[in-house]
Amino acid sequence: MFESLSDRLASTLKDLRGKGRLSDADVDATCREIRLALLEADVALPVVRAFITRIKDRAKGAEVSGALNPAQQVVKIVNEELVGILGGETRRLTYAKTAPTVIMLAGLQGAGKTTLAGKLAAWLRKQGHTPVLVACDLQRPNAVQQLQVVGERAGVPVFAPEPGSGVGDPVDVARRGIVEARARQHDVVIVDTAGRLGIDTELMQQAADIRDAVSPDEILFVVDAMIGQDAVNTATAFQEGVGFTGVVLTKLDGDARGGAALSVREVTGRPILFASTGEKLEDFDVFHPDRMASRILGMGDVLSLIEQAEQVFDADQAEATAAKIGSGQLTLEDFLEQMMAVRRMGPLANLLGMLPGAGAMKEQLGQVDEKQLDRVQAIIRGMTPAERADPKIINASRRLRIATGSGVKVSEVNQLVDRFFDARKMMAQMAGRFGL
Ligand code: GDP
Repeated sequence: MFESLSDRLASTLKDLRGKGRLSDADVDATCREIRLALLEADVALPVVRAFITRIKDRAKGAEVSGALNPAQQVVKIVNEELVGILGGETRRLTYAKTAPTVIMLAGLQGAGKTTLAGKLAAWLRKQGHTPVLVACDLQRPNAVQQLQVVGERAGVPVFAPEPGSGVGDPVDVARRGIVEARARQHDVVIVDTAGRLGIDTELMQQAADIRDAVSPDEILFVVDAMIGQDAVNTATAFQEGVGFTGVVLTKLDGDARGGAALSVREVTGRPILFASTGEKLEDFDVFHPDRMASRILGMGDVLSLIEQAEQVFDADQAEATAAKIGSGQLTLEDFLEQMMAVRRMGPLANLLGMLPGAGAMKEQLGQVDEKQLDRVQAIIRGMTPAERADPKIINASRRLRIATGSGVKVSEVNQLVDRFFDARKMMAQMAGRFGL
């Protein structure tokens, strides 16, 4: 997402580089380009207009600053305004003063509500909460079952009407879900509601009735970022029909142009709280306007990277590994662990994409061969613990056994072992040089 917008903005802003000062004509030309880039990315017209007006006013009136050259000043302004339309400060969930906090999900069918219910529940659990899911989508066949599957995956209980119990009123289910949650001392209740294929007054009324029955602390409007301009219309309809306190963008992993993401907050005035970036439970995060803006501008997203790394790597373990590297005692076991930790952070191409300057590296990024990494992993897994701990013992017959066991050629095992020894030596030398 945002790739072509990113590229266009980057090349527009690059044209300003090297200019000693910017004339009004320069600013106008740049704004024209930015306007086109935003329209092409499917950003809603009123949002584009407001954005461009603000950039123009600020860029033309900009004081000459000692620290920044004119091009840098424009980049700074564009970045700040992007952060602005994405919502400014990161907006956190609001919890009720007395538990349980009630979070209601609303949105079109297929927006990703049920998937999100699981992601949110898993995320809340990680934060130390004890969430429960309530299945109020009694419209779509299998919706209840789908939520149960999602709940199981996230490790959280699901409150749903018994099959065949005849309970067919979602408002009733919602109300009883809250009572149940309170009785079982769950501190957060996530209420999944029936989606609609389009704007449907009857279902909208049902959502409003559920809202009135459970008085949610947060109503999250879940919207598929791939639906482009329609996202704005849908958001407006839900705002009028049900009202919501925040937005969740889903399918940000898609290759759509991203206009929805850039429009919805500005049009509805409601902040984006979370973003979903895939079908798996962990493809989900708090939405940070500042980080998203710098990602769009191609400045990378170092903060996200650091945060992800912190989740995956354990500081003590990292220190122990560093010590082993320094003394040339790194084993293949350590190597495998490190590799798996890095891969747990997501595909390498995504990871590298978050680094500053990666915009220009896109071609190489496309060539990171995940399959090759799978093979390396398979080879190491095919070794015995003793072999991983002391790769020197891996003689010819062991190499043959490992190759057969992991389904690769002996030459690949040879290559891996040789490279490992080279790398270990080189890392130990480097560590020595840097005094590690
Ligand atoms: P609901 O009808 O709103 O409950 O939507 P679902 O949760 O059933 O999601 C609809 C489809 O979108 C499912 O196939 C999900 O796996 C998929 N989906 C949900 N969120 C994401 C996401 O962030 N990225 C991608 N690629 N797919 C998603």
